[in-house]
Amino acid sequence: MSPHPLFDLTGRTAMVTGANTGLGQAIAVALAEAGAGIVAVGRSAMTETAALVAGTGAPFREIRADLSSVAAVAPLMEEATADGTKIDILVNNAGIIRRADAVDFTEADWDAVMDVNLKTTFFLTQAVGRAMIDEGRGGKIINIASMLSFQGGIRIPSYTASKSGLAGLTRLLACEWAGKGINVNAIAPGYFDTNNTSALRADPKRSADILARIPAGHWGQPKELGGAAVFLASAAADYVHGIVLPVDGGWLAR
Ligand code: NAD
Repeated sequence: MSPHPLFDLTGRTAMVTGANTGLGQAIAVALAEAGAGIVAVGRSAMTETAALVAGTGAPFREIRADLSSVAAVAPLMEEATADGTKIDILVNNAGIIRRADAVDFTEADWDAVMDVNLKTTFFLTQAVGRAMIDEGRGGKIINIASMLSFQGGIRIPSYTASKSGLAGLTRLLACEWAGKGINVNAIAPGYFDTNNTSALRADPKRSADILARIPAGHWGQPKELGGAAVFLASAAADYVHGIVLPVDGGWLAR
């Protein structure tokens, strides 16, 4: 069955960072199912994602990059576009988390998280956005935010700062670029079953407390995020700018 024309991404190219696992993999597959070619960016081999995207028939390319440093951005853009490829959709999904009480939190854990989640995300977005503007093509940028873009959380100070910052950055970029045909939005996943939350799920009390407050009654499965990404990447969202869309099983409504 072909997608509704408003959601059809055939002929578009989507760059998805951190596409080798979890939410990034699910987003890459969903965008491919809607027709987009995928440029998957990550630190390690993306064999599983490549196989899943191949199953959709969409083109797939992988680029190795360590997004802990802004120095990765220029070579990444060079490799992505050397053959004339134009990035129509950027999904800033790569992210890390470090857990410790605020009183014990180290500078190293602060910098590591801020570098990947906020600093490189901004400068990669700047590079992709600049190309979209220079070429007059417009495009779609989707940041992967968090419940910690709205709430405080505990034991994750740099993560909360980075994801709250990412929500602000989403709004700033939307204001600067909406008039240039670029839609900048974010998705805020609730509690999903991925590496990012393995420590929470391994803690019986935290795990039960979290589950008890999710109205949908289950942790999110990565596939449950794909539709929101397709929507924000598609013509259906052409007049949607600067939102942070929760996909959270009702967590924030509680
Ligand atoms: P994950 O740990 O499986 O995925 C993180 C991805 O980022 C991996 O592919 C990893 O390789 C990549 N990455 C990390 N550091 C990188 C670096 N230096 N260079 C390149 N790639 C790097 O966990 P996930 O849950 O799939 O996380 C994806 C995104 O979703 C993250 O931004 C995370 O903060 C966000 N998120 C997750 C949840 C959740 O419940 N799982 C909730 C809210 C937000």
